[in-house]
Amino acid sequence: MRTFRVGTFRGIPVQAHWGAAVIAVLVGWLVAGSVLPNLAPGASSLTYAAAGLAAGLGLLGSIFVHEAAHALVARRYGVSVSSITLWLLGGIAHLEAEAPSPKAEARIAGVGPASSVALAAVLGLGAWLWQTTGIFPVLGATLMWLGGVNLILAVFNLLPGAPLDGGRLLHAWLWRRKGSRDLATVGASRAGRVLGGIIVGVGMLELFVLGSVGGLWTALIGWFLATAARQEQQAGNLGAVLADRPVSDLMRPLPPTVPDWLLVGDVLAGPLGTTDRLVAVSFDGTPTAVIIVADLSRLAPALAKRTSEPVRIRDLSLQPPKIVDARTLAREALRDPRASIVVTDGERLVGIVTPADVARATALHQLGTEDAPTDEPVHAA
Ligand SMILES: [Zn+2]
Repeated sequence: MRTFRVGTFRGIPVQAHWGAAVIAVLVGWLVAGSVLPNLAPGASSLTYAAAGLAAGLGLLGSIFVHEAAHALVARRYGVSVSSITLWLLGGIAHLEAEAPSPKAEARIAGVGPASSVALAAVLGLGAWLWQTTGIFPVLGATLMWLGGVNLILAVFNLLPGAPLDGGRLLHAWLWRRKGSRDLATVGASRAGRVLGGIIVGVGMLELFVLGSVGGLWTALIGWFLATAARQEQQAGNLGAVLADRPVSDLMRPLPPTVPDWLLVGDVLAGPLGTTDRLVAVSFDGTPTAVIIVADLSRLAPALAKRTSEPVRIRDLSLQPPKIVDARTLAREALRDPRASIVVTDGERLVGIVTPADVARATALHQLGTEDAPTDEPVHAA
């Protein structure tokens, strides 16, 4: 997702996806074109346009307040927040870990809708007070509209399906009742899938029965919800597989390391043997990438065409791996999905975990043979 940095809030980077700007403009256009002329007739079209723009920005601001509330409460419970992102369908506060307890999860989730309701009340009251003065009714109407939008934001987010806040509240409740975070995840995400399906259905009815194009939008939101819920369900199942196992249970031995200042051609020409992966390390020994040898070969012709300069490994701008200690719980290590994980024991690099290793652990769990030794070679060559 291409995003641009908007600023920081208490040290948390705030970024916006281009879709957020599209929404602000679309909403502003709708408010200027039809909402305000109905609520406060008789103003000039320039006035409506300015108020519409303010309403669009106000919507983004409202979403930001909602997400910032999640972020602040998450931090209070020791969960760090890597960023706040505004995008096409609202906002996301990216939490770096799971809530430590059902109570913490309920508070982190609940504060978002609560802040939207509070904002709705303040805006509604402001609008009402302003209207009593009888001056410039367009301002009052804009505030009233923003208040209503915040109320809708709160109600929508309280729908009981993950990944919505209501789904998180349901998750916290199930977690406390069943005593298992993973069972709760499976339950809450199942609710999210059902909810997503219902919203898609409502969107289709809107589109085909009422003939309203807005139904497409509703269906898109439902589809997004169902998709996100399915991913959470998979994460819940994976969580059950991983349970409390350390990441070292999943890892494979460290492949050969290569200095990342070597030329791509030299690495390919080197004695690679049968290894399919390499770990690139920087000058101070920090892993900078997990390289799939086949990818390197595939990249080479394009690189040769693009530049006459010899290309070094570090010029490839490969995604840096996640570096975790061998004793880290696998579920924590796998939380933020990246292509590869490099496992360390103190200063020493000891292994890597790839998506294939995770798939293997899951398959073994399903076969009920997870306790069999996994480090024995399959082929006795
Ligand atoms: Zn929320």
